[in-house]
Parts: sequence; structure tokens; C-alpha cells
Amino acid sequence: MSSTPHTGVRRIPPAVNEPIKSYAPGSPERADVKARLAAMEQECPEIPLVINGKEIRTGDIAKATSPHKHAHVTATWHKATTANVQAATEAATAAQREWGSWTWEDRAAVFLRAADLLTTTWRSTINAATMLGQSKTIFQSEIDAACEMADFWRFNVQFASELVAEQPISGPGVWNQTDYRGLEGFVYAVSPFNFTAIGGNLPTAPALMGSTAVWKPAGTAILSAHYTMQLLREAGLPDGVINFVPGDANTVSDVALNSRDLAGVHFTGSTAVFNSMWKRIGSDVGRYKSYPRIVGETGGKDFIIAHPSAEASAVAVGLVRGAFEYQGQKCSAASRCYIPKSLWPAVRDQALAMMQDIRMGDVNDFRNFMGAVIDKKAFGRIKGYLDDAKQNATILGGGGCDDSKGWFVEPTLIQTENPGYRLLCEEIFGPVLTAYVYDDAKWSETLKIVDETSPYALTGAVFAQDRNAVHEAHHALRNAAGNFYVNDKCTGAVVGQQPFGGARASGTNDKAGSKLNLVRWTSARTIKETFNPPTDYRYPFMGAE
Ligand code: NAD
Repeated sequence: MSSTPHTGVRRIPPAVNEPIKSYAPGSPERADVKARLAAMEQECPEIPLVINGKEIRTGDIAKATSPHKHAHVTATWHKATTANVQAATEAATAAQREWGSWTWEDRAAVFLRAADLLTTTWRSTINAATMLGQSKTIFQSEIDAACEMADFWRFNVQFASELVAEQPISGPGVWNQTDYRGLEGFVYAVSPFNFTAIGGNLPTAPALMGSTAVWKPAGTAILSAHYTMQLLREAGLPDGVINFVPGDANTVSDVALNSRDLAGVHFTGSTAVFNSMWKRIGSDVGRYKSYPRIVGETGGKDFIIAHPSAEASAVAVGLVRGAFEYQGQKCSAASRCYIPKSLWPAVRDQALAMMQDIRMGDVNDFRNFMGAVIDKKAFGRIKGYLDDAKQNATILGGGGCDDSKGWFVEPTLIQTENPGYRLLCEEIFGPVLTAYVYDDAKWSETLKIVDETSPYALTGAVFAQDRNAVHEAHHALRNAAGNFYVNDKCTGAVVGQQPFGGARASGTNDKAGSKLNLVRWTSARTIKETFNPPTDYRYPFMGAE
């Protein structure tokens, strides 16, 4: 592999957000994805590892199932052994020297081509895999797996072009330059189940900047991750640049974090797992060739607060869409809300009416608004919270669970009078929204409660028509959310429009799909060239008077 000979300051194609297709009855995209879904349900691929461009089958096989139909096996996948992970870290480290020497535009071409393949020939495959494997409706899949993933690939190229254009000034006789090098070694990319696009972004953002990756996808998103890897290979990604190693998380992490060549971690997932990786890197810090860059976007306890001046129906829609789309399994999902007494009857009744109307079931039936939660473990965890609410709070709507065919949890609205109740503090990661109703006169006190109730600070929204209330919320909640919404639901960030990430226990806030994130995957080299170097060591001030 080598870079293209080229002279010219290249202008990259401008990034635009991929338009979301409607999938309305009669549309061609609906026919395409339905045909692909029907075919994929029969396929059950055997998913290999990919190390240095070679497919590897270890024989240690796991099964992936559809969350909404857990008897249905969607794929089998080979789990990485310790030796495989070791080989992946070595392949990535070796590939980095060559890949990092490519011009950044030649690397960008791979991801721009990947984005175009994704939005054309691969669109129905990636969408169908996300629907079957992760139980997303076609709309939820389209905004994630097709649009957001393409946006990550296209916008990161644009942001990289802005970043590499940042060059130092030069005085007379000197030329100063910045060389944006990839990180020496490899980046360990660990992705969650809930967004196919995050799986596509975590290893490719470092790769665009000249780093290489060992990618461990979530076992619960293996089908879409497998097709993402195939697509990247078809786009021309050179061998060894991204190495695909699904497997037992502890086995894979043990080897990856033990490597002297670990140059960074690009993680999205729960706070507890990220903390354990950080701790491990910290205690082993002397082992590594460089200080690993540690980037993690983690949990959330996202809020919606309404002021008495808010419009009740806008609040109710914000709550229902924000809390229940993708079964509440977005890191940004609304899971606690604070509503004034005067507004509560209208907000509650409208939300409950919408919840009655929501259809939940197999995502093959496009009339459904919700599918199932991801797996048995999630089902058990969410059910535990609902059992707690039955004892210690009031369930106003939903509350039921059914695991006979799939991992189904009804959209649930709970009310509590205790602002410190655990369902207002802990991340549940399911379709469960807990409401705290406050006295209209206690707006300022309630803002303080919102700010101090949970350790997270990912997303949050304020609904108000009174501009002073909006100002006060902006100020009081400044550190309570990395993505803050005014009169809108707290989910649905779009690459290039609302760079995403939170602070406090929600992560390092390196804003996925932005220049701030790309900065983490480059190690700048400053070069000073002096055109006519001095030949006398003495300075003028040393002359005799
Ligand atoms: P998870 O932490 O269970 O898993 C994430 C990844 O880490 C998976 O690949 C998993 O296999 C791996 N993993 C698990 N244990 C590990 C270990 N000991 N060492 C190394 N890797 C390990 O999270 P999940 O259930 O896949 O995703 C849901 C979580 O992700 C929620 O907490 C959610 O808030 C968070 N999330 C955050 C963002 C964000 O941008 N802040 C985005 C999406 C998801």
C-alpha cells in the first residue's frame, strides 16, 4: 500500500447531512429494505474476525439473536482468543507506519467512498442488520446506521481538513510547520450495542488521522458491526488499519490494555466499564510507549424540565419521543422529568394517551413505534427497576414486561414525590420515565435539584415560553448537560449540527463527530526550518563597548 503521487492543495467535497428517507408505503426504499430483511432472516452468516485483512475463524462460537424474537438466531460469530488479540495489536502497530505516511487526503478518500457505498448499495443491508440485530424500527435504524454513520465519515473529513490547515506563523528566514502525525501504536476502539454509527465511528476517526485500530464491537450488535467492517474493506481500507476482534470483553481488553503499543482508547458504553479501563491504564502507565489518549462517552440520566410557561403538548411530545424511541436505549433518552403542578394534569394525560397509542412489537411490522430491549440482562435490570417502582412509587402507565417471544418492556411513566428516588438518579437504559411534580413557585429550587440529583451530565432539555426562565435554566444547568435543548426533546443529535458528548460521569466530552474528537487522534510534530543558519555563536550584545 502506498499514497497517491499528487501535487496540489486538494479541495475536499463539502459535507452535507445525509437526507433521511421516509420509508412511507409505496416508496422504493421501503421495498428494498423489506426485501433485504426477508432475505437476511434466512441467512444466519458465520462472522469471522478480521486481522490484517485475513478472516479468522477460531471455532469458539457464540450465537446472536433478535431481541424481538429471541428464538431466532441472526448470526453465529467467532470469538477472539488471546493469541488473536495479540496478533491484532501487532498488525495494527505494523500497519500504522505505512498508513500514517499516506497523505491525509488519500486516507480521507477511503471514508468518503465508504459513506457513498453505505448510502447507496449498502443502505438496505446495514439498516436490515440493525433492525434484526438491535431491534430498531426502520426510522431509528435509518437515522443511525445509514445517516449518522455517513455523516460521521463525511464530516470528519471536513473537520480534519480544517484541523490540518491550522499551521503556525513564520518569521523572517524561518519556515514553521505542523505535521499532524497519527498516534504511534494502535487505538483500542470499544463500541456499544445501541448505535451502529458509533461502531462505525470509533475505529475510523483515529484511522482518518493516521492512527490504526483494534476494534471490539459489542456482541449484541455483531451483525451490523460485521457488515460495517465488510463495507470498509470494500471501500479500500488497507489490511491491518482496522482489525475486527469480537470476543469476550475481558479477554480482549486484557491483551489490548496490556500492550506496550496502546496509543489510545476510543470507548462508548457504560461508566463502570470505562472507569475500569481508565483505572487499569493508570496503574500500568509505565508500561506504554506513549501516554495513551483516553476518550470515553459513557452513561446518562437525561432530564426534561418544564417551566410553568411551557406549552403542555410540546412537553408531552418531548417526553414520549425522548423517553421511548428505541425503547429508551439511547444514551440521550429522557429518563427523568420535572413538571410544575399547574401543567402536570395536561402533560400527564397527553403523554398517557400517546403511550396508549404506541405499538410495540416485531420491527418487521413497520407500524410499530417500539421494538424490544436488547437482551435478557437488560430485560432483567429494567424489570428490577419496575418492581421497585411498584413498591416505592406510582406507576401511571405501562409497567408490564413480557419475555415470552422477545424482550419487551412497555413504555412506562412513573411518579414519585421523593426527588432523591433511585429511579430519578440511576441510569436504567430502558423505556422508563420518572416524573417529579414541583410547586410552580419552586422553579429555582427545582433547577438546583435537577443539577445535583445524578452524577451524569449528558443531555437535558428545558421547555418554557418565558425567556427569563430559559436564561435562568441556561445558567443553573450549565454543567448538568453536554447537550442542552430548549423547547426540544433531549435526543436526536445530528453530526455537524449538535456535536455530541457529556461531562461529569458521562464521559470525557470529546464530542463525537467534531474537530475536538479528531484532535485526540493526532500527535502534532512541530518543524522549524532555518533558511540561512548563523555561523557565529556570539550575539551582538556581547560586543565590546
Ligand atoms: P457496556 O459498557 O455494557 O458495553 C460497551 C462495550 O464495552 C461493549 O463492546 C462491551 O462488550 C464492552 N465491555 C464490557 N465490559 C468490558 C470490560 N470489562 N472491559 C472492556 N470492555 C468491556 O455498554 P452497552 O450496554 O453496550 O451500551 C449502553 C451504555 O452506553 C449506556 O451506559 C449508555 O449511556 C452508553 N452510551 C453512551 C453514549 C454517549 O455518547 N455518551 C452513546 C451510546 C451509549
